Amino acid sequence: MSRPAVQPRPFDPARACALAFLALVLALAPLAPCTDARAQTLDDLRRAYDSQPPDRVESVLQSALRSVPDDPALLLFAGEMRADRGPLPEAESFLRRVLASSGAPPAVRQRAHLELGRTLYERDDPAGAHAQLDSALAGGGELGQAARWYLHLLGLDGSYGDWRTLESEHLRVHVQPGTPVDPEWFLGSREDGLKEIQGFFGAQLPKKIDVYLWRSSEDAQRSGLPPLGFARPSMCLIHARPGQSRGHELAHVAEYWADLAWRPTRLIREGTAAAFDLNAVDRLWFARTVLQRAGVTSVSVEQLWADRGEAPETVIYPVGALLVRRLIDRGGRDRFLAFLPDQSLENAGRVYGDTLTQIIAETERDLAQPAAPAQQDTPEKPSAPAPPS
Ligand SMILES: [Zn+2]
Repeated sequence: MSRPAVQPRPFDPARACALAFLALVLALAPLAPCTDARAQTLDDLRRAYDSQPPDRVESVLQSALRSVPDDPALLLFAGEMRADRGPLPEAESFLRRVLASSGAPPAVRQRAHLELGRTLYERDDPAGAHAQLDSALAGGGELGQAARWYLHLLGLDGSYGDWRTLESEHLRVHVQPGTPVDPEWFLGSREDGLKEIQGFFGAQLPKKIDVYLWRSSEDAQRSGLPPLGFARPSMCLIHARPGQSRGHELAHVAEYWADLAWRPTRLIREGTAAAFDLNAVDRLWFARTVLQRAGVTSVSVEQLWADRGEAPETVIYPVGALLVRRLIDRGGRDRFLAFLPDQSLENAGRVYGDTLTQIIAETERDLAQPAAPAQQDTPEKPSAPAPPS
């Protein structure tokens, strides 16, 4: 199965330091005979990984593997790239070669255990993941802490012992004791919601989605997790709380597995999830209402498109959802899915042409109008914008 590309992993301490770690390994490791070629190819890889389309990165990787085929740091890098972009069996193979290499420094081995743990979880082998993460944990230090964090994130540590697990065709829902939600109803509503979302995205998931339903966000945060809810799409993993929309986090997972988003943007990624939150609401009315409450009288879609986290969720989510709905309504499903891999404004212009200019102008004009008061107390009114993930 082909596998989509990198998406931001905002709560991923291990991933965040991956490239810096590789630089450290290169600086400290004994110099290989082909030092120049090795340094050059790995430099090329780092640059390509951050900025280039997948086929370009793949070509640099293949060149690097021809140049230094048995270098543990390169094998680790190749394993990490495959873990992000697939295929997962190749990720596993590269990472096991690191662990079988007698020349791999301890820190490289520890990182390989960590990555292999994540990869095996994504391959629906939680027992194998547990063993690898335990090995990474035993190495101590920052990577050991990262392994401990993953064991908790993935539901593999001892703290979930008294949780109840229910399964359906595409979901495994794990419910914390005392959660004020009927577990059977929750499972059924999410399974139905996923089928609805998949009707659009049509993605094949590599495993069932594991949903951890907490009593409250505070409980999860006390255990060390980020505020709820959030999804880890590559892992088909969601941590949720009562009261979230049915679809938002499921849509993150479905979208991830449906496209090849090598250039995601916050506006489109969150806008897509919010557009598929399955709330029965008029998107324009909702966006106007939320902006009005926030005291925002006008928006620049172009500025929001360039946003990297500065704009509040109360603006990004409803405006993104409105924009995504209009792109789909105006251009159709196939064009939207063709646009998704490169979510930049420039690519939207290439895919949608003049239609994009019209949609942006209409959206900015429509959002500058106040929300209609008559609709403000309809039963469909959501109490808050979709939660972060
Ligand atoms: Zn989200």
